Amino acid sequence: MDIEPGTLYLCATPIGNLEDITERVRETLGQVDLIAAEDTRNSMKLLTRFDIHVPMTSYHKFNQYDKAEELIGRLKEGKSIALISDAGTPGISDPGEVLVKRCVEEGVKVSALPGASAAITALILSGLPGGRFAFEGFLPREGKDRKTRIKELENEKRTIIIYEAPHRLRKTLKELFEVLGDRKIALCRELTKKHEEVLRMGLGAALDLYSEKEPKGEYVLVVEGYSGPAGDTADSAGMGLLTIAELMQHYMDKGLSKKEAMRAVALDRGVSRRDIYRELLEKDG
Ligand code: SAM
Repeated sequence: MDIEPGTLYLCATPIGNLEDITERVRETLGQVDLIAAEDTRNSMKLLTRFDIHVPMTSYHKFNQYDKAEELIGRLKEGKSIALISDAGTPGISDPGEVLVKRCVEEGVKVSALPGASAAITALILSGLPGGRFAFEGFLPREGKDRKTRIKELENEKRTIIIYEAPHRLRKTLKELFEVLGDRKIALCRELTKKHEEVLRMGLGAALDLYSEKEPKGEYVLVVEGYSGPAGDTADSAGMGLLTIAELMQHYMDKGLSKKEAMRAVALDRGVSRRDIYRELLEKDG
């Protein structure tokens, strides 16, 4: 693989199993001038495992603004830099976003080398609809922001993905249960590692379970979206791909009147009933 001077390479690294590194990432990490890592000590294990001896510098949330300027300076001098986070895809709930934004503003070339991300790994294991999903990352830790965010999830129809640390799991399960009710949840833990575990149950049962069981390891919570007044969700069978007319038919086949179906479709698509009416008239006319 040819490394281009003056380019920032966003390199996804494994989320547990080192075998999940991609060939491109491996080659790139071995060839760039500099690796910017969230935690250089942690990343040293990865580099040692693959016999990579490229200088590293730290790029983390406490230095991300100042360090971004320094890295851009080096990129502009023609150096190539790889950005890696502790695990997974840089920029997804870890530093990266700021640097990419600044590169875009400064006209510095950015190239992405995709790979593992805990969110997508958990989603596909959850057994919940994956056609449409809302990635929430970490919920705000406390206070009004946290309350507001959880409240916003009450009517979220898409499957919801949340990152959570073990010591905060119980609080999060409790608050989600209080607002969302007994929705389905998949608790995905230690993904791709030796003790990988995916528990699929109701939020209430999860709360009971973890009142006795000690949460351990890193979690991704995948929560069922809101089912809507029709007791069905457009997401449940990839219905987001249907046309308005097809979605109307889907609801009417389920026994809804035309008016009720229009209301359900409007809710699904996040538009007014008048918009749906107009769209159907245009199709008919
Ligand atoms: N950028 C990363 C990605 O693409 O997945 C996420 C980084 S974020 C700082 C770390 C969080 O990701 C953890 O708190 C946990 O919620 C989740 N996570 C990372 N690795 C995981 C794993 N192996 N199993 C379960 N969750 C994991």
